[in-house]
Amino acid sequence: MEKILVTGGAGFIGSHLCEKLLNEGNRVICLDNFFTGSIENVKHLIPNPNFELVEHDIVDFYDVKVDRIYNFACPASPVHYQYDSVKTFKTSVLGILNMLELARHNNARILQASTSEVYGDPKVHPQVETYWGNVNPNGIRSCYDEGKRAAETLMCDYHRQYNTDIRIIRIFNTYGPKMAENDGRVVSNFIVQALKGEDITIYGDGSQTRSFCYVDDLVDGIVRMMNCEGFNGPVNLGNNAERPISDFANVIVELTGTKSKIVYKPLPSDDPTQRRPDLTLAKEKLGWQPKTELKEGILKTIEYFRERLSAVK
Ligand code: NAD
Ligand code: UDP
Repeated sequence: MEKILVTGGAGFIGSHLCEKLLNEGNRVICLDNFFTGSIENVKHLIPNPNFELVEHDIVDFYDVKVDRIYNFACPASPVHYQYDSVKTFKTSVLGILNMLELARHNNARILQASTSEVYGDPKVHPQVETYWGNVNPNGIRSCYDEGKRAAETLMCDYHRQYNTDIRIIRIFNTYGPKMAENDGRVVSNFIVQALKGEDITIYGDGSQTRSFCYVDDLVDGIVRMMNCEGFNGPVNLGNNAERPISDFANVIVELTGTKSKIVYKPLPSDDPTQRRPDLTLAKEKLGWQPKTELKEGILKTIEYFRERLSAVK
C-alpha cells in the first residue's frame, strides 16, 4: 500500500484518479482549493478510511509524508484559467515548485499533468513529443500554456539537478462524467446546451479540430505512466480520432435528440486550429492506447449530465 497525494483531486480528472488509486488499495490524500473542483465529485469516497480530503492551495507550502504525488491542481478550461490569469500562472509555477520540494524531501515520485497546450497552435501535425510547439508568450491563453511549459522545465531541472523521480504526461482534450456543468469546455457546453434545449454555440466556423479522449482511458494511461520504470516522458495521452468542432456539434445533436439550433459565435484569439496526438510513444513505452469510441463515451457523459440537470430542477 502506497501513500499517494493527488492535487486537484476534487476536479474532473483528479476525482476519477483518486477513485482508481483507492480501488487499487492505496492510501490517498486528495488536496484541493475547490476553485473548479467540487466536494460532490469525491463525497462517495469520504467514508473510505484510506481516503483523506484536505482543503489547501498548492501555491502555499504543504508538508506531508508521501510516496507518490500526482499534480493535477490547475483550472483547465479556458474560461476558468482566464478568470484570474495571474493566479493560474502561480498555480502552475509556484504550485509545482512546492510539489517538487515535497517530492525531493520525501524521495517520492512525482507526475505532472501537462497538456497538449504546450504545443500551442501546432505547425507539426499530429503532435509528437519532440515538437517544441508554436506558443504565443503573451496572449490570453499564455497564463496556462506558458505556466505548464515552465512547470515542465522545473520538473526536468529537478530531475537533472536533484535526481528527483519525475513523470510528465501531456493530456489532450479529455471528457466524461464529473465535468462541471459550468466548465465552459466544448463537451460540457454542447451537452448541457442540447439537454436544456438552448442554442449550441460553435466558436468560429467550426473547422478547427480536436480529438476527444474518454476519462477512463486517460486515467488508465496516467497510472501506467506513474508505474512505468526507466521512462520520464513527456508522453502524449489522448485519443487520436480527430474531427472538426462542427462535426462534433452534429454528434451531440444526434445523440441527445435535441431540437437545439446550432449558432456561431466569435472565435477566441489564439484558439488552436488543429490538434491530434501522435500516440506512438505511449503505445511503445506504456502498452497503452485509448479504447472508448466517441459515441460510447459521449452517451455515458450525456447520461451523467441528464441526471445532474434533473437533480437541480
Ligand atoms: P478541473 O478544473 O476539473 O480540475 C482542476 C482541480 O484543481 C479542481 O478541483 C480545482 O479546484 C483544483 N485547483 C485549481 N487550482 C488549485 C490550487 N491553486 N490549489 C489547489 N487546487 C487547485 O480540470 P481537469 O480537467 O480535471 O484538469 C486536471 C488537470 O489536468 C489540470 O492540471 C489540467 O491542466 C490537466 N489537463 C486536463 C485536460 C482535459 O482535457 N481535461 C487536458 C490537458 C491537461
Ligand atoms: N468551443 C466551441 N463552443 C463552445 C466551447 C468551445 O466551439 O461552447 C470550441 C473552442 O473554441 C475550441 C474547441 O471548441 O476550438 C475546444 O475548446 P475547449 O475549451 O473544450 O478546449 P481547448 O480549446 O482548450 O482545446
